[in-house]
Parts: sequence; C-alpha cells; structure tokens
Amino acid sequence: MNEKVTPYLRDLALNNPAIQLQFHRSPEEDALKRFQLEDPLEEDKNEVVKGLVHKYSNRALIKVSLRCAAHCRFCTRYRQIGSAEGDLEETDIDNMATYLSSNPQIDDVILSGGDPLYAPKTTINILKKIRDISSIKVFRVGTRLPVHNPSSFESPLLKRTVNLIDEIGEKKPFFMLINFQHPNELTEETLKVVRSLRRRNITLLSQTVFLKGVNNSVDNLMELFQGLYHNGVIPYYIFRCDYVKGVERFVCDIKEEQEIMTLLRSRLSGIACPTYVVDVPGHGKIPVPLSYWDNVDLSHCRDFKGQEIPLDYS
Ligand code: SF4
Repeated sequence: MNEKVTPYLRDLALNNPAIQLQFHRSPEEDALKRFQLEDPLEEDKNEVVKGLVHKYSNRALIKVSLRCAAHCRFCTRYRQIGSAEGDLEETDIDNMATYLSSNPQIDDVILSGGDPLYAPKTTINILKKIRDISSIKVFRVGTRLPVHNPSSFESPLLKRTVNLIDEIGEKKPFFMLINFQHPNELTEETLKVVRSLRRRNITLLSQTVFLKGVNNSVDNLMELFQGLYHNGVIPYYIFRCDYVKGVERFVCDIKEEQEIMTLLRSRLSGIACPTYVVDVPGHGKIPVPLSYWDNVDLSHCRDFKGQEIPLDYS
C-alpha cells in the first residue's frame, strides 16, 4: 500500500504524532512483516460476484471500490487499497443487484471498500439499483472521509450522494459508520460535517481500532469516545487490530487493551462505550470480556458456535 495523504491531513499531522503514525509509511512496515495473513476477514473467498462479499447468511458487504482519500497504514485491506482492480463496471453492479434480489435472506447491506464516499458515482449507481429490493431492510455505509477530507463534503457530487442516502434513510434505517482513531481527529472541520450529517435521516456510529502509539491510553480513548458522544456519534466498536501482514507495529498487548476498556466502561456512559471485539479469522467478531470477572484466560476464546480458538493465530 503506497503512502497517500490529503493536504488537510498533511496540515493536521504537523506536530501531531497520532496522525503522522496513522498515515506516514514507516520502514518498520517492511522489516516487521511477521504475520502471514493478508485477508484475515476471508473476503476474497466469500466474494460471490465481483465486489459483493457474502459471508454471513443475512448480511452482505459491497466493496464499492478499493480507493480511499488517504491510506491508513493499519488497514485490514492493506493488501489491496489503492488498486484499480476493485473498480466496478455497470455489469458488476447489475450482477450484485441480481444476487441480492435472488437471496432474500440478506436483509442488511454494508457499503464498504475502500471508502464508498470517495467513489460517490459508483455509490450512487449501486444505491439506485438496490434501494428498492424489498428484502433489504437496513443499509450501512463505512467511511473515513469526514476525517480524511472534510471539505470534500462541499462538492456537488458528494452532496448528491448524501441526499440520496438521506432519501433512502427516510424509508429504511441507514447507518453511517465513521472510522475515528484519535481525539485530534475531532477538528472543527470534521465536526461540521458530522453536524450536517446529523440533520439527515442517517444514524451515525463510529468504529475504532486499538493502535499502539496512536490511541492505546485511557485518556486518549476517553476523550475520543466522549467527544463523539457529545457530538451525536455513538461509539459502536473498538477492534483489536487485525493480524495483517504489514500492520504489525500497531498491534497492542491484549491485556493492556482489556485494562483500558475495563476502566473506560467504569467511566463512560454505556452509550459512549463501544463494544471491544476481536475479529477472529473465519469466526467473526468475538467480544473480549472485561476484567470484572475472575479467571478469564485471554489466550483463547470460543466463537459463536462454541468452537475453541487460540488467539495467537499469526
Ligand atoms: S479509509 Fe478504511 S479502507 Fe481506506 S485505508 Fe483507511 S481503514 Fe482502509
């Protein structure tokens, strides 16, 4: 994954190590590569038509493109971000719509990527084709554009995209999952975008990843989750960083993460405290127990079927 930052982020990164670490390529990335996994979420093997991942029975994920306004060095899709190979043709979108119509058990569709809001034309095309499929009850879109480039929300094309999401959101729940990692990302520019989105038929949630050196402290995460909550964004998930080849330098100690989340749970309102999970390859998002119970062993967990999984799967 090559280095890519927006002018906005370049300015924000000045004297701001938490931002620099997230976006500046480091020689450590190549030196460390000890993890074997490149596709920990097993998306490639569950891609049923180009761009459409169907892994869980009632949910489907659409990879709108593999492009983003900036490249986060900790990205789970490190292997492919920035590639033109994910660009979708009209026929790919038709194939997705056909698949979704003929699989009515899918009631929840997630637009992801890359960043769907960085590919607004494709996002509009997809939404227009699937919005009226009656079996789809809920839409979600994942984005980091409010952090990467807030001024882009002034562009006519992005305004059209948000208008369409708003229109669909009037009839079916539409969730926007915004990726935030550090309180320094809550700038006036970004919060202006958040406020404008809040006026729409969109529920705003956040997603965060534990990142060593960036946010692995009680104070940082407390400030981030409170800041989000105060601005109407519900902290939804905090993930243990996936064991992806290239992102090794960001993986924190799991015991430290557990202690941080235990303290946060005692200090934050329940709504402001996200669920702490580890996305175990092939097994889904398993909640990590906090330290309120004795004798919890963090060396392994059980998935939703009860299968025991060692957590050192690197
Ligand atoms: S915006 Fe999301 S998909 Fe794009 S590089 Fe960052 S984490 Fe990866």
